[in-house]
Amino acid sequence: MSGYAETIERLMGELGRLPGIGARTAERLAFHLLKASDEEAFALADAIRDVKTRIHPCETCFNLTEDEQCGICADPQRDKSVICVVEQPKDLLALEATGSYRGVYHVLMGRIAPLDNVEAEDLTVEALEARVRAGLLPAELDDLRPALSPEDAWRMREEMERTFEPVEPVEPKDNTKC
Ligand SMILES: [Zn+2]
Repeated sequence: MSGYAETIERLMGELGRLPGIGARTAERLAFHLLKASDEEAFALADAIRDVKTRIHPCETCFNLTEDEQCGICADPQRDKSVICVVEQPKDLLALEATGSYRGVYHVLMGRIAPLDNVEAEDLTVEALEARVRAGLLPAELDDLRPALSPEDAWRMREEMERTFEPVEPVEPKDNTKC
């Protein structure tokens, strides 16, 4: 018990649940907000509310967007036959920043990690498999490699290999049944 009023305790509790924020930092942030102007503090509250109510995954690639389709999927100039699989939206942004890639993306929203109870069904793998079966080809990342940081390039390559390796080839037999 710190002896603070309940509302302050609650704010510190919520801030303390954020990654990398310990009890001391939560206390410091709470008092920063108490001292801040109403405008500044409410701007933070509004930004959190807006991001939670307006942002959702693109219905095609799972990139984050305010619309049904993200700007990349909706762009008629993008090559819709080539797909690059990335782990997180930030990886997509890293590749976009290179300006060298003209295909589309698929965001897995995480990585398969059985030890952390993250399985393929927790990610967007099923939707990806459907897109690959529909004919999308993996992007050639080698051309983009020099423009990416070594860490981003390595992670993207690993994700592409992991994802495309287990996808079974299209079997026309299944389609002729009906
Ligand atoms: Zn999209």
